[in-house]
Amino acid sequence: MSGASNLYPTKDLQARDAAHHIHPFTDTGALNREGSRIITEADGVWLTDSDGNRYLDGMAGLWCCQVGHGRREIADAVHRQMLELDYFNTFFKTSHPPAIALAEKLSELTPPQFNRVFFTSSGSEANDTVFRMVRTYWDLMGQPRKKTIIGRWNGYHGSTLAGTSLGGMTAMHEQGDLPLPGVHHIAQPYWFGEGGDMSPHDFGLKAARELERAIDQLGGDTVAAFIAEPIQGAGGVIIPPDSYWPEVARICKERDILLVVDEVICGFGRLGTWFGSEYFGVEPDLMPIAKGLSSGYLPIGGVMVSDRVADAFIEKGGEFFHGYTYSGHPACCAAALANLEIIQRENLVGRVADDIGPYLQKKWRALGDHPLVGEARMVGLIGALELVPAKGDRSRAFQPVGEVGTLCRDISFANGLVMRSVRDSMVISPPLVLTHEEADDLVARAERTLDDTYAALKRDGRIAA
Ligand code: PMP
Repeated sequence: MSGASNLYPTKDLQARDAAHHIHPFTDTGALNREGSRIITEADGVWLTDSDGNRYLDGMAGLWCCQVGHGRREIADAVHRQMLELDYFNTFFKTSHPPAIALAEKLSELTPPQFNRVFFTSSGSEANDTVFRMVRTYWDLMGQPRKKTIIGRWNGYHGSTLAGTSLGGMTAMHEQGDLPLPGVHHIAQPYWFGEGGDMSPHDFGLKAARELERAIDQLGGDTVAAFIAEPIQGAGGVIIPPDSYWPEVARICKERDILLVVDEVICGFGRLGTWFGSEYFGVEPDLMPIAKGLSSGYLPIGGVMVSDRVADAFIEKGGEFFHGYTYSGHPACCAAALANLEIIQRENLVGRVADDIGPYLQKKWRALGDHPLVGEARMVGLIGALELVPAKGDRSRAFQPVGEVGTLCRDISFANGLVMRSVRDSMVISPPLVLTHEEADDLVARAERTLDDTYAALKRDGRIAA
């Protein structure tokens, strides 16, 4: 990459970025002082920056690039589609072949209760759609008091008004006076951080039964739905104990509330099943999707709508006053179709279940022996390392929370590995095409990062030398 610094003058790009670009989830003042990292190229699981440095993309972009970067056949499919039909809407009694083909394909790939999709451009828009759809469903069913949606603290469902409200990120709620009325949050099934002396099994049941308690408290006839991610991603790759999901499903069924399983991260093979709900054996009524649907090549999301909900809209609904200019955008549908074709042809879901998943998990869990790591967990190809000041003592965390995670993340970048930090845990979610050699490389870089972080903490006296 010797020519890269001429092609991409880093300082100049940073200055223009600082002058004109407000980044998502960023302290813009701090970033502008430091200068952004400029990513210029990507291929397979590798990224290149404007100085020619290479990084293993341990986050698959932002939990989305299942098929890896630089797949020509997706670019070609989009190119062809744009020449044939660049854009037309799907409002006003119109449709087009790519939206029809993708809707049909999704009905085939998703669990049997799903035969219809409502298209959006993102996961956040999908959850805004869920918000309106859930409430309208109960109106249609003659139960207009059923309006409250229950989510979880530290859940993430996007950053639009409904997404932020359904999610349980308090720092997000504080900006914009959220959540919206009619949203309630219960505890998360985070055994490592909040399980105390309970066994994971008992703690999982306790966390699930918070839902039952909340329904009783709020009044059973006022609760419309429960929304949750199969595994919380942005919250820190929180893998619920095995006892959790079956108990949640039982409660939703008994109390007749809709179960919304947010598959934006877990969908499309991340857990070694097509969808996270299949991994945990539950049957959602609504399923927001995005990210892996197109591997991030173009923005597209949607809500899978079960027959139960769709039939109410179709039989009693009249017009649903909801939709986006880019719902079912032809080029985005073409990208998604080409992406799904690759996932199927290369058996990426099976490979996560039987091959690269178990291979990486074994090595990742071995990082749990490191003195800085309290727990190393992974399902499919999504995992986390909990960094702790006193190994073996789950009650102690670094103070202030988040500093060590950020330090470790920066060290990881310096070691050529993209890991993300959440509080003081490090998370990964690499492309599903990761090879064994790349998995070895990923783990070697993660280990070096842990060693370097540990040494830095000792130097600073933040950990006993
Ligand atoms: N739901 C979940 C579970 C997510 O992880 C995300 C994004 N990280 C979203 C919804 C929001 O998706 P988007 O950023 O595409 O709006």
